[in-house]
Amino acid sequence: MFLVKVFACKKVFCEKEKVLRKRAIVISPGIYTYGASVIAGILERCPGVDIDVTLSKGLHFEGKFDYIFLSLSSTLHLLEIGDSIQELKRKCKDGGLIVVGGPVSQCPEFVFRYLDCDVVVIGEGEIPVEMMKNGYAIEEIDGVAYKENRGIVINPPKQLPDIEHRTLPKIPKDISEQDVRGANVYIETHRGCKFNCSFCQVSEFFGREIRSRSIDNIVEEVKEFKKAGVKKIAVSGGTSSLYYKFRDLLETVSSVIGKNNLSAPDIRVDTINEETLDAIREYTIGWVFFGMESGSDRMLKRMRKGIKVGDIIEAREAAKQQGVKVAGSFIVGYPGEREEDYEKTKELVEDLYLDDCFISIAEPIPGTELAEEVIKGGADNPLFIQSKRIRNMSVAEERALDLMLTSYVARERPLTLSDDLYEKTLKEVRKQGEDIRKVTQMITGGLGYVYNCGYL
Ligand code: SF4
Repeated sequence: MFLVKVFACKKVFCEKEKVLRKRAIVISPGIYTYGASVIAGILERCPGVDIDVTLSKGLHFEGKFDYIFLSLSSTLHLLEIGDSIQELKRKCKDGGLIVVGGPVSQCPEFVFRYLDCDVVVIGEGEIPVEMMKNGYAIEEIDGVAYKENRGIVINPPKQLPDIEHRTLPKIPKDISEQDVRGANVYIETHRGCKFNCSFCQVSEFFGREIRSRSIDNIVEEVKEFKKAGVKKIAVSGGTSSLYYKFRDLLETVSSVIGKNNLSAPDIRVDTINEETLDAIREYTIGWVFFGMESGSDRMLKRMRKGIKVGDIIEAREAAKQQGVKVAGSFIVGYPGEREEDYEKTKELVEDLYLDDCFISIAEPIPGTELAEEVIKGGADNPLFIQSKRIRNMSVAEERALDLMLTSYVARERPLTLSDDLYEKTLKEVRKQGEDIRKVTQMITGGLGYVYNCGYL
């Protein structure tokens, strides 16, 4: 009898605690991004107030929350979520906050223009999110932007002082079902990039100095993901070979997950050497993914890539000699790209005979030099020039389509150019063109607003 009474009291207490306990949801539209898992991990694991944390890929969920974190990986998410913002507001408890983070948040005025949220986390999320969790007033928090009567207030961001022992992320239960370019998850090994490519925001977001996590910290995380059913892991951090102990990292992670389940994508052609390539062959699936971008030295210079076409050719040779398969990514339709620049890129793709190829139309991500160039405008943006050969298609899309089709046949194992493959490629190119035109309109005023990022 007594026991029953104690149990009943405990139940009432737990129910009460449950009501009082704060709740947060971290939404990562479409896929579980690594950044969203890290934010959820901070909320759940960092010392301080206990919070119930949910991680979701969708915008439709039940219940009310004290914090709704939107971890946005694409500029277009601002438009997509803008349509659902009223519904999200109804899911906020009284005094609750809608907080936006992710690459696009580097330019908070831009986010506020398109999304009626309360707070934008600028740059790295660890410090501001932990302070929010522990009840600090927004005005006191570093690395956030918020609205006041007099306008938008920006508290400058601070970098995480101890990335070596970073808090582990929250791992979603169904993470093993996710497939992003062949990996269930991309694990961050380091932050920062000493290069400054005009289309990329990594060095602006994380700084120029490389800050690496310890191998022990990374391995602890790999084991947790493995326990959750994850098989395929990619190590990432902008340029993976910039990790301070690249070979040791691959050797150790591979011993946990198996070499056939580990990849090290996104490598610069000028950061490899025999040891790097040897480690890739010995401890990973044996592929190297190079950001090659263009076959024109003029365009490589304009993109501030810091490499020449000769470096690309040498890197491909070096990788092949070490028995490593080579994939390359290319950007077409960059502002100022002339027909002769494109022809050089096409020739390079034909000559390199890669194992795989990824082609994208240049996207002006807010906060990048490319975005600034696009905002300044000019008649030389191939995304806004009509193709003379294909109806209802821009020059940028025409080049993307042509290069993709070229890359299917000019490769180690050529693909058969079926009608299906052509249709699929055409659809992908049209989608890329449409999305990037929308992003361009968002930053240049086509959607009613001329945007100028204070960080440029
Ligand atoms: S594209 Fe790669 S090398 Fe260039 S700035 Fe970004 S992360 Fe660095």
